[in-house]
Amino acid sequence: MNEHILIVEDEEKLARFIELELAHEGYEVTKAFDGRIALETAEKNDYSLILLDIMLPELNGLEVLRRLGKTKKTPVILLTARDAVMDKVAGLDAGAVDYITKPFAIEELLARIRVALKLHGSGAGDGRGDAGNEQAEGVLTWKELVFDEPKHRVTYAGHEINLTNREFIMLKVLLENRDVVLSRDTLLEKVCGYDYMGETNVVDVYVRFLRSKIDEEFNVKMIQTVRGVGYVIKSE
Ligand code: CA
Repeated sequence: MNEHILIVEDEEKLARFIELELAHEGYEVTKAFDGRIALETAEKNDYSLILLDIMLPELNGLEVLRRLGKTKKTPVILLTARDAVMDKVAGLDAGAVDYITKPFAIEELLARIRVALKLHGSGAGDGRGDAGNEQAEGVLTWKELVFDEPKHRVTYAGHEINLTNREFIMLKVLLENRDVVLSRDTLLEKVCGYDYMGETNVVDVYVRFLRSKIDEEFNVKMIQTVRGVGYVIKSE
């Protein structure tokens, strides 16, 4: 069965454009142009994912997200305006899995959709996705670290570690490829899912975030730098 995506966007031209691109990728698509209809539609149907604009007539996107979150677990990617930092924070707090800032490149949106469906979609963690070739049901471990993909949860010695989506994927890729040194290019491609146009230092930034949240916090050396090559997590 095709993944079915609900697009909630009151700029009809933009909605139509996204619809065509998604249909081209093989997704089934439904559109809603205001928040109230979006909420009703989303509550009545089971979508694989919702693209939700924040500035909407009738009911704004954050309100749709809050109300929907009470009844549904459908992953939501927010479409936000460039400067709406508070909206992004509020949106992630309200349960959105990701956001993308307008205007965006369609390739980036498609990449984020793929990631969101993989991590949060109905197929995530039940063996249908890439997690199928991992240890018990998508759970990876390193020392006392437990990476539980189905639950989207990472702990170290029982302590919860809060990771962003990108950090989560980065850690997953490194854990899955244990003892394999991954280049910045490879990591970038796996984490961002598309050509990021030469900004491989993005990878260094994510590694730094992961180290501050795990290595420094729990006094371990998990992610190792291989000078001139990339990064690796070694088996202990
Ligand atoms: Ca709008």
